[in-house]
Amino acid sequence: MVTADSKSTIEQSALSALKGRIPLIGLTGGIGSGKTAVSDLLTQLGAGIVDTDLIAHQITAPHGSAIALIEKQFGADFITTDGALNRDKMRSLVFATPEARKSLEAITHPLIRQETTKQALQLSEEGAPYLVFVVPLLIESGSWQNLIDLLVVVDCPQETQIQRVMQRSNLSREEVEQILAAQASRQERLKHADMVIENQGSPKQLEVEVQNLHQKILRFQKDRLSSS
Ligand code: ADP
Repeated sequence: MVTADSKSTIEQSALSALKGRIPLIGLTGGIGSGKTAVSDLLTQLGAGIVDTDLIAHQITAPHGSAIALIEKQFGADFITTDGALNRDKMRSLVFATPEARKSLEAITHPLIRQETTKQALQLSEEGAPYLVFVVPLLIESGSWQNLIDLLVVVDCPQETQIQRVMQRSNLSREEVEQILAAQASRQERLKHADMVIENQGSPKQLEVEVQNLHQKILRFQKDRLSSS
């Protein structure tokens, strides 16, 4: 029998088949650090982007692949009238009940892995020179370290993160601080980084940083091919 877990192992091995063929880059950073801004710029430069946060949203959007399973596990109360996950209700539940968070993740994580693998293989077949996996909680999850060749951390001062997220997501300072408290610290993230994108300047400065990153990744692949 193919269970959700054994299936995800099969998919992970499909993903690791890409290892050594093209650079596999992990991109992480705290909320509001600029991961989406960086991945948008990398897309323009031709990178293959797999955004796990976007996938997590898609599977819980109206009639997404996680909806029927969530309804079965948690009840119809957790589904909105248009067939999406009721995010506010679920946020309150998982915040108060660690067991509920585990049950939710047991549904969503295999589906996210499945879609991540599908998109990565497709982008590679389409000729992407390298793949970038955008994973907000990459450091915290621990399960990416073996797959990726290079870890890129987007970094800026915490106060900048707070200001950006308050503006972008219309949240209060307390709400943003609560999210930050549940994430790895800036120091912890930087400790694991192979490369750091400083994003405390202007959007124009970020563009230059991202162009440099793109060149470094291409050089990484060139060096790897010439030494093999
Ligand atoms: P993340 O994906 O890491 O949560 P985003 O890329 O969404 O962060 O950036 C958070 C907010 O800050 C967005 O509204 C984005 O447009 C803005 N932003 C990102 N980088 C800069 C920058 N260098 N200058 C000004 N605004 C920025």
